[in-house]
Amino acid sequence: ASSGSGSSAKVLKVGSSIDFAPFEFQDEGQKEYQGFDMDLIRAIGKEMGYEVEIQNIGFDGLIPAMQAKNIDVIISGMTINDERKENVLFSDPYYQSGLTMVVRSDEQAIKSFQDLKGHKVAVQIGTTSAEAVKKLGGVEVKELNTPADCFMELKGNGVDAVVNDRPVNDYYITKSGETGVKALEEKLTAEDYGIAMAKDNTELQSKINEALKKLKENGEYDKIYAKWFGG
Ligand code: GLN
Repeated sequence: ASSGSGSSAKVLKVGSSIDFAPFEFQDEGQKEYQGFDMDLIRAIGKEMGYEVEIQNIGFDGLIPAMQAKNIDVIISGMTINDERKENVLFSDPYYQSGLTMVVRSDEQAIKSFQDLKGHKVAVQIGTTSAEAVKKLGGVEVKELNTPADCFMELKGNGVDAVVNDRPVNDYYITKSGETGVKALEEKLTAEDYGIAMAKDNTELQSKINEALKKLKENGEYDKIYAKWFGG
């Protein structure tokens, strides 16, 4: 690959599971993927001098897609954890998250995570929620493809609770004006999101970390944050 002023820009192939508002989603009739992660990775790509190409891949297919070299990085509200670190490298953390739960508004029996024993709970497949709820023990776990599927199952009485990332639960209820369900305050875990790349790609990891640092210094990160989460 040549450097310099050629017209062929370097391309950063990004994978994301476009089902996780406000981090990655697509509104009906809208061509572009939008959300916090989408703005952030486009800004990072620009900073690095790369053209960003985003592919929509189901959450549990993201790491396999990277191992097959179909994508260079993953940005998908992905929590940094030791299990994933066996297969990928992560950037520095870029967002503090954690798990909360959503129940029907008239729910009386479930007031905390301890109350989940003996109940059916929906989680997105391949996520930290799936892992954390299984660890609680005594919970009947339904693993579905997307958070939207989980919420639909809750409203249709197929499960009694949904465990999912706090900002996504909050956005679902407040921003979409969703009624009939409520998010509980209690946090099951605290988690940090990171951008993932191939295990041996330390060069890309440094470039991404540098770009992320720059965006935090120059106020661009704060602008993107305020756009999606308020000042
Ligand atoms: N943060 C959670 C995880 O990493 C969920 C991510 C997602 O569903 N996009 O497992």
